[in-house]
Amino acid sequence: AAPLVVAKSTSLAATNGLLIRKRASFEEARKLDTVIFDKTGTLTKGEFGVVQVETFANWNEQQIISYAAALEVQSEHPIAQGIVNYAQNQEISTKQPTDFESITGKGIQGNVDNKYIQVVSRNYLDSNNLDYQHSINQEGATVVYVVIDKQVAGAIALADQVKPSAKEAIQSLKQIGIASSMLTGDNQKVANWVGNQLNLDHITAEVLPDQKASYVKEYKNRGKKVAMTGDGINDAPALASADLGIAIGAGTDVAMETADVILVESDPNDVVHIIRLSRATYKKMM
Ligand code: ADP
Ligand code: MG
Repeated sequence: AAPLVVAKSTSLAATNGLLIRKRASFEEARKLDTVIFDKTGTLTKGEFGVVQVETFANWNEQQIISYAAALEVQSEHPIAQGIVNYAQNQEISTKQPTDFESITGKGIQGNVDNKYIQVVSRNYLDSNNLDYQHSINQEGATVVYVVIDKQVAGAIALADQVKPSAKEAIQSLKQIGIASSMLTGDNQKVANWVGNQLNLDHITAEVLPDQKASYVKEYKNRGKKVAMTGDGINDAPALASADLGIAIGAGTDVAMETADVILVESDPNDVVHIIRLSRATYKKMM
């Protein structure tokens, strides 16, 4: 009877907004005890808006935004879209960059107008001994720094919003005995701001993409059955390391190609549906 049960669950899954790419992992979903979520684009909408721009030395806002947007046009990160939209709304023109390079989990860099431009996290500044002052103090905002020829020239604060469905999902997981954690490359303050709204069991911030994967493996080594949910290129190694890799449908192709299950509607509540459906489907086959 098993194949019939499975066939039924697959069509049920399709109507529930789940795309199951790997049946064996879906079957294992009934045993999960921990779900780890990426922050940006997974628990939050991943739609950043610029809320503040600060400039240093003799640079002005127009220059800072123009250089930053010139590079961000090439990036797939949700932060990039926020900066590019802002430049367009302000009618700030951008030049074509050369030697564009993304520094995974840290930012981007390239040449614009014969200047070496980097748009990076505070972590990157700290580990590369780049001095900065900053006065931006927007609760929950992600701040990226614009570096021109190795001098910090400006800071851009961007705000994202928590998905209301994320809160429901974490609550429902708790009710069925599953712990929820968040893993993010963003800074601790932003992570806490998001975490406090969601009642998560655990928060880990300022992790690089390969560290996300080690974190998942560490959980498994402690005997946990772990699902990882994410949307970005930077989440792919962690998705691959988990017992169940879950990609957000609105996310990057790389995440979707790596995942065992895709949430077509990009709704975190569907993580709960996967587990319920797996439990209901496979309990008959024990
Ligand atoms: P998350 O885990 O929240 O998806 P990432 O690992 O993608 O975060 O990024 C971590 C940090 O690296 C960001 O908060 C930002 O400071 C910096 N960063 C990543 N990509 C970019 C980009 N395209 N432009 C500017 N900063 C970036
Ligand atoms: Mg993300």
